[in-house]
Amino acid sequence: MKRTLALAALLIIAPQAKLAASEEPASAYRPGSTKERPRAAKENEKKKQAHPAKVAESKDSARLKALEQENFRLRQELAQKGGAALQPGSEAASPEGALAELKAGNTRFVLGSRTRSQMGYNDIALRQTLAKGQAPFAVIVTCSDSRLADNFIFDQELGRLFTIREAGNCPDTQSLASIEYAVEHLGSKVVVVLGHESCGAVKAVMESGPTPLPGNLWSLQNAMSGLLESVHHQAGEPTGTYMSHLVEANALRQAKVVITRSSIVEHLCHEGKLTVVPAVYDLASGQVRFLPAVASEAPVPEAHP
Ligand SMILES: [Zn+2]
Repeated sequence: MKRTLALAALLIIAPQAKLAASEEPASAYRPGSTKERPRAAKENEKKKQAHPAKVAESKDSARLKALEQENFRLRQELAQKGGAALQPGSEAASPEGALAELKAGNTRFVLGSRTRSQMGYNDIALRQTLAKGQAPFAVIVTCSDSRLADNFIFDQELGRLFTIREAGNCPDTQSLASIEYAVEHLGSKVVVVLGHESCGAVKAVMESGPTPLPGNLWSLQNAMSGLLESVHHQAGEPTGTYMSHLVEANALRQAKVVITRSSIVEHLCHEGKLTVVPAVYDLASGQVRFLPAVASEAPVPEAHP
């Protein structure tokens, strides 16, 4: 795994190193000058015209470098706010680091400045490296909803997120097995159970009440058993607000399911090597609201506060 990480780190650094090596001294030539252009500048221009792909790659590398710096700044800021010490590359080393990188990635997504999920020119080299193994630092349990593309939401490239998607973000036995594989064999440091506003699965369960849903949809009601009873619909409360409370309560309950129904997850959490965090995604803003991590000792919430 360490070897894979080292290779992945090289892939991030390589384009920048290549750019630095190909840079030439600044030219004295000014547009409009009658002075003859220095030979180096002329050749450089010719080279660029001959290789437009390389020019585009250099521009991408410079942009990537700037965005990586911005990412580092955001991570520092988030770590300071959260009271955690920042160590570069710590997303693969600790639950705190993993969570900080997810928060930083989501901030990039919200601001429209995705970095890691836009490194298209790096796809070929990345695939070749990842064909040798994977070391995803985070497990994301989220809804199958087409708007919940976690690689975009957390701005991460291939090989960084281990994803389980089920309608209503309710992990079944196979989902729990997938989580256990990731945290035990691949070294993931955080499990995020990500619900979202206006979730169709939660809405279906809410609207059907005690009436069984058709086909296999009854399994959603089974997975969310106890949810409706745990959240009181206050008199006069708008349905949208009630739905938001249900979505949050469901994320919390499903995060509890992960930790209480998996002795492997529970053990790693107890040792401080893993954390399970519920969260809610806002479809319009792209913002992920992280809730406090769940502990194995805490009971399933009976009612929404
Ligand atoms: Zn949904």
